[in-house]
Amino acid sequence: MGSTGVQWQGWVVIVALLCAVLLPSEAAATPQPVRDYLLLGGATDEPTPHRSCTPQMLHGPRQTLEIPAPAGGWSGQPQALDVFNVFAGEVMIRHAAREICGNMGDARTRDSRFRAGIGIVIVPPAGSAEPIVVSWATPLKERWGPTLRLGAPSPVQQRDTARLLVRAACLAVALALALSALMGFFSARDRLFLVYVGVCAVFMVWQSVLSGLSGYPEPWFPVDVDSAWWLVGLTACAQAVLLPVLWRLNVGDRHWPRWRRTWAMLSCGLVLAALLVPWMDWTMLGWMADILQAAHITGCAAALLAGVWAWSRGERWAAIGLIAVAPFLLMIVADLARAQWLLAHRVESLQLSTTWLLMMAAYALNQRLGKLREQRDEMRQLADTDSLTGLPNRRAGLRQLGAQIARATDEGTPLVIGFLDIDLFKEINDHHGHETGDAVLVAVAAALRGSVRSREEVFRMGGEEFLLLLPGASRAVAAGRLEQIRRKISEAGTALQVPGLQVTVSIGLAQWRPDQDDLAGLLRRADHAMYGAKRAGRDRVMDGDQLDAGSAA
Ligand code: GH3
Ligand code: MG
Ligand code: MG
Repeated sequence: MGSTGVQWQGWVVIVALLCAVLLPSEAAATPQPVRDYLLLGGATDEPTPHRSCTPQMLHGPRQTLEIPAPAGGWSGQPQALDVFNVFAGEVMIRHAAREICGNMGDARTRDSRFRAGIGIVIVPPAGSAEPIVVSWATPLKERWGPTLRLGAPSPVQQRDTARLLVRAACLAVALALALSALMGFFSARDRLFLVYVGVCAVFMVWQSVLSGLSGYPEPWFPVDVDSAWWLVGLTACAQAVLLPVLWRLNVGDRHWPRWRRTWAMLSCGLVLAALLVPWMDWTMLGWMADILQAAHITGCAAALLAGVWAWSRGERWAAIGLIAVAPFLLMIVADLARAQWLLAHRVESLQLSTTWLLMMAAYALNQRLGKLREQRDEMRQLADTDSLTGLPNRRAGLRQLGAQIARATDEGTPLVIGFLDIDLFKEINDHHGHETGDAVLVAVAAALRGSVRSREEVFRMGGEEFLLLLPGASRAVAAGRLEQIRRKISEAGTALQVPGLQVTVSIGLAQWRPDQDDLAGLLRRADHAMYGAKRAGRDRVMDGDQLDAGSAA
């Protein structure tokens, strides 16, 4: 494993060196003219691509705004007009004989100067008093009217780009959160992470249609002129996940588990309504939008009440839910107060609020991941610990022995193990009682734990048997260490002050033999040495190799 790692790195170094040597020589062989700029594109006589209006584009109820020329007529300077937050139908912009149509889907592909809306740059002749006329399809909801910006082309387009950046950034954050939740799922295998990824996906599609980014840079989502239908349908889907998430974040789910079914039914109802949206006419779509708004306000209010109630009872967790719902509440209040900033930045506000919610949910999810990890570590710790003595158990011992063997083999360092058995423990149990036997085990474990040094390890392998790992120590040094430990244990037995009780141990020593041994073989040799110590009269350390040499002689 280690050697393949080194080979791999070696190849990277060789390839990098070859590149460094070959590339400049190639450039030297064919001299290139020195250039410090890159000019793309060229002069054109093509007109800016735009769509002319047709009667079909302008059918149905429409609203019109005439922007009059300033007093004294237009100055002769170019005028940029940007129209955004139009969620359905075509926008028509006309000045004198020039007239263009556009919708959210094609605005950013046909005329790239206006990225977050539909726009035009015109140069009215100086002194002309001709107004600019803008018309748009009557919006589904009264307050969902467009925002128009007029001014010099450069600042208008700059603001427009800033708006686009906020919209795209919200999508990017949602994508990043979804990807990190996916990683969380792979590491924790908790289904909730997948649910979160699904929530992010719904919000991303909804945000793309809402912000018009579904048409950027090329239309990738089949919204076209049906954006109002898509928007209402996707809003219903987004509400179906948003409201239960808010409820859960505000710990409502924990305090009123019976409501779980109500929320599930509400979500199902919203998804069902979303599925019916394609068959709705304009009037029904308007009702649907109103119903969705009412559901949103009610859901946010319920989450707020649950959160405040839980917070007032000292539940620290409710704070996350309250922070998550705060931007939505602010938007509801601003909408009621007809706040100007909300009219101008409705899409950005909605996107920022949902992104904020996703971030809070991700925070809650990470807390959950932390808790799961803690529980897992605790369980692992319990599974690896002997309950009587608190020492790591046989399971941990075998794992650690395997790891130490691998290390000793890789690094070519010595590894000695000691197999320790309490002498005549059955008699201790029989004469002094099982409880004293347990106390002896605890005392021996404490003495062992107190004796081991930084790199040494000790495990209770079962009954009255213990395993000691002494990595890095030579056979002679290890034998000395085990002798010290044997004496310490005797002292610990005496310290128990049980009349007639004497605690001694027999220890078998074996050293790892690379290329000859395996884990089981090493343990067998140590066990064998321990029995050799018993046969030789107990209360001693026996080296397995000396035993073998003795028996061979
Ligand atoms: P030897 O010197 O040959 O090792 O003799 P021994 O009596 O120690 O050997 P044996 O393996 O026959 O006895 C081990 C005893 O340890 C048997 C068992 O009842 C006892 N024992 C095993 N686990 C525990 C325990 O957790 N608590 C107590 N009190 N006794 C235990
Ligand atoms: Mg035994
Ligand atoms: Mg014993």
